[in-house]
Amino acid sequence: MKKILVAGAGGFIGGHLVNALIKKGLTVVAVDIKPIEKWYQLDPKVENLVLDLRDERNCFNVTKEIDEVYNLACDMGGMGFIENNKSLCMLSVLINTNLLRACKEYEIKDYFFASSACVYPISQQNNSDVTALKEADAYPANPEDGYGWEKLFSERMCKNFNQDFGIRTRVARFHNVYGPNGTYEGGREKAPAALIRKVLEAIRNDVDEIKVWGDGEQTRSFMYIDDCIDGILKLRDSKFYDPINLGRSDLVSINELLSLIEDIAGVSLKRSYKLDAPLGVRGRNSDNTLIKEVLSWEPSISLKDGISKTYLWIKEQMDKQ
Ligand code: NAD
Repeated sequence: MKKILVAGAGGFIGGHLVNALIKKGLTVVAVDIKPIEKWYQLDPKVENLVLDLRDERNCFNVTKEIDEVYNLACDMGGMGFIENNKSLCMLSVLINTNLLRACKEYEIKDYFFASSACVYPISQQNNSDVTALKEADAYPANPEDGYGWEKLFSERMCKNFNQDFGIRTRVARFHNVYGPNGTYEGGREKAPAALIRKVLEAIRNDVDEIKVWGDGEQTRSFMYIDDCIDGILKLRDSKFYDPINLGRSDLVSINELLSLIEDIAGVSLKRSYKLDAPLGVRGRNSDNTLIKEVLSWEPSISLKDGISKTYLWIKEQMDKQ
């Protein structure tokens, strides 16, 4: 029976991936640096280990009996975290580096790396009405400082380990993934979860105003977690080893996203715009030509369906507090 390592399994996407792999009948070893009680999802059928994967000894010890590695471990968060913790973001390079070295040592032939749309040049994302980014646009390089450079370098390392040592490296550039069992408070949350939490707080505290970062006209595309997991598994089954976009291709402004959340919640709040907040690029969208060509598939879950499910989950968590 194949034994799979999921790095970052206590996190949002890693936790969902562990579930999907178990459903496929695979044996999973789940690793995260967070204490077990902080993992979003915990399956008792799985070997769950708390380890710092920046440490090469941990990477080599944990991969000895492993057949395949999915690396979703990374010190990251929304724009507020990324813009203020560039060195921490860059240190995640150690996780990818040591896991790839261990794969070479133990002849593990299949490796997945979670990259990000933050690898794309800032200069191509200056307008809300941005042209969708295709994979080749990543060069000449000018990515997000810190986090984006780490992702681009790690992508490159995957490519070289593929070419030099025959490791089948799959690399997906995720575009804003959201859904249940992820971060919604504490400073690392991303826009969809942050806005849902703020709307719920306004309702709970009977306040009619909400703070929005920026002027709300910045745009992104948002992918529901089930599409993300489907995409990872489909990519794993392919023979495609270069970086590929994994995201929705419909552009939404933060104001539009907030209106959708307000509709779901049945409220309409006065918006107060915080113009000095960390914002990242003005607009970013995914060009899905390549993924449609390679996988004959692209993410399809609508923002309305995905946000409705996420809203219910965050509400449930906040009601429990
Ligand atoms: P997350 O923060 O929920 O999960 C990442 C997990 O990695 C965390 O649980 C964290 O504790 C763990 N981790 C961090 N440092 C570690 C270490 N040294 N050793 C072991 N574990 C460590 O984030 P996520 O949203 O699930 O993201 C998963 C991956 O996808 C990351 O690589 C992230 O950069 C990438 N990504 C996510 C998005 C998104 O929208 N969520 C977008 C682009 C890329």
